[in-house]
Amino acid sequence: MSDIIQLLPDHVANQIAAGEVVQRPSSVIKELLENSIDAKASRIQVLIKDAGKTLIQIIDDGEGMSLTDARMSFERHATSKIKVADDLFSLRTKGFRGEALASIAAIAHVELKTKTEVDEIGTIIKIEGSHVTSQEACVTPKGTCISVKNLFYNIPARRNFLKSDAVETRHIIDEFQRVALAHPDISFSLTHNGNELFQLPPANFRQRITNIFGGKTNEKLVPVDEDTGIVEISGFVGKPEFAKKRRGEQFFFVNDRFIKSPYLNHAVVAAFEGLLKDKSYPSYFLYLQVAPKSIDINIHPTKTEIKFDDEHALYAILKSSIKHSLGQFNVAPMLDFERDSELDTPYEYKNKGANVPQVEVDRNFNPFQNEVGSKSNYSSGNNFRKEKPGEWESLYSGLDAENESGIDVKQIEFESEEVTGSLFGSNDEASGKSTFQLQKKYIVSTLKSGLLVIDQHRAHTRILYEELLKNITVSAAVSQQLLFPLRLQFNHQEIEMLKEIKESLEQTGFIFAEIGKDEVEITGIPTLIPESEVEILLEQLLSDFEKEVPDNGFTQTDLLAKSLAKSMAVRSGTLLNSEEQQHILNRLFACKEPGLSPFNKTVFSTISVDELDKKFA
Ligand code: ADP
Ligand code: MG
Repeated sequence: MSDIIQLLPDHVANQIAAGEVVQRPSSVIKELLENSIDAKASRIQVLIKDAGKTLIQIIDDGEGMSLTDARMSFERHATSKIKVADDLFSLRTKGFRGEALASIAAIAHVELKTKTEVDEIGTIIKIEGSHVTSQEACVTPKGTCISVKNLFYNIPARRNFLKSDAVETRHIIDEFQRVALAHPDISFSLTHNGNELFQLPPANFRQRITNIFGGKTNEKLVPVDEDTGIVEISGFVGKPEFAKKRRGEQFFFVNDRFIKSPYLNHAVVAAFEGLLKDKSYPSYFLYLQVAPKSIDINIHPTKTEIKFDDEHALYAILKSSIKHSLGQFNVAPMLDFERDSELDTPYEYKNKGANVPQVEVDRNFNPFQNEVGSKSNYSSGNNFRKEKPGEWESLYSGLDAENESGIDVKQIEFESEEVTGSLFGSNDEASGKSTFQLQKKYIVSTLKSGLLVIDQHRAHTRILYEELLKNITVSAAVSQQLLFPLRLQFNHQEIEMLKEIKESLEQTGFIFAEIGKDEVEITGIPTLIPESEVEILLEQLLSDFEKEVPDNGFTQTDLLAKSLAKSMAVRSGTLLNSEEQQHILNRLFACKEPGLSPFNKTVFSTISVDELDKKFA
């Protein structure tokens, strides 16, 4: 057989490399921003069209490139940043692989305009799919302007793989924020389809954080400062009471580079131990400076993961300095012997000020949440108002009326004969009620053939989920008009997500009067949701959306219904009276799929008399 191995042509090799470096428009933005920073720019403008799918343009006032360099910059492994492998261990620049421009030029139409300080005249180069189509002298200010058009124009599969504009914009904002946070001394702007999303003047870290995440962030920040031989830590953590339902605002920067590190994240969370309510995430903006030789950045093509020489020491230092800060700024409880009593009361609730009385117009809130036995966090909803019993029935008003009385129990046959002579003399059974609650978690009912045990939270989630789905897809939902519009603050990214799901939300009963730059005005909400829970519910929803990034209409609706149902459903740990228990039971078996929660978990289980008999054999 003849020899068959060949070297790949450059443009093919570049396309392959691009697969690693460029996943989506935001990857291009990241690489180009880093190049501008490496070129010591003091002002960087980002302009995008159609979430970067049509155009990404980055203009900087950095060092620029000579004619030869401009041409060279598109060659693979062409870099001005390292010369020998040893340089890798003293890196101070973002780039070093010399792959970004070559990769980008392989999969888009690229135009580069650049001029150095010393040159009189600049250079403009056009490249399409790795082929230079024109190169001319031009008049341009010092610095570099790169336009990347029609990303993936020659790889339809990749182009089709891109998500909706809203999702891609979200990724872009993510990358932009990371870079802007790492370099507060540089001025940045981001404009999308002519709308300015960010305009960030040169600032210190604290100002930069507030400029990005909104003025209110300032009062939530607790400074962290620690200087040891191994690491210099500066930055901020968010006060625990402002911890978010979503993981959004968590940033580590190591030597001015944004990195992801589950291990260090763990250290931060550990420092917050006992201060956070369930499933909430502290915000942090932490800047670590370490000796370049003590880390390896080159373990991941996009360089967001790095390896530290002494991870364990770093962990310990980080944790203790954050603990120290939280204590010093009186955020953490200081007295150890008080700790025991604190354990039952979530911190954020303890420190809550008195609530200003509100005018409430929603009559149909979820009544299962106002039980005495519940814990005082959101999930079990102790902050719900007391309500007349009975009105909870309106919770289910959207469901089939004919099912109200005639329960479709599918294969399950309930005990029909009156239970008499109960061993424990239960009042419930004497009065004809056949359910009771176990551990404030399960609803137990008798069946002809044995026992039925229902997980109350999952059952209620299933019920609400089906009702919400129906509202969204079939019938128009009923809203309660708010007497006073709710104004809620969100960051840019959350706003982008809200815009994306606005229509579906409106079908559940939300009415948005306005979605602004960082604020939303809500004038109506679904009847099922109490006004006081709207913010936390939306936060949870955005968090769920962030994780799943739903793409098409169906999955979006489904995710929305799931998320709302999960948040609204009665928790385990909540005491239910027998009427409520009955209601869940009845409603559950009117559902299309009573056996599984929307998250595919078992909702109920039966124990047959046969099984019981065996136990007594
Ligand atoms: P790397 O950043 O890893 O060196 P790139 O492909 O991103 O590789 O860039 C190649 C080279 O092009 C860089 O080393 C740099 O010399 C030059 N370059 C790229 N972008 C700019 C810019 N905005 N200003 C000045 N020089 C640039
Ligand atoms: Mg680069």
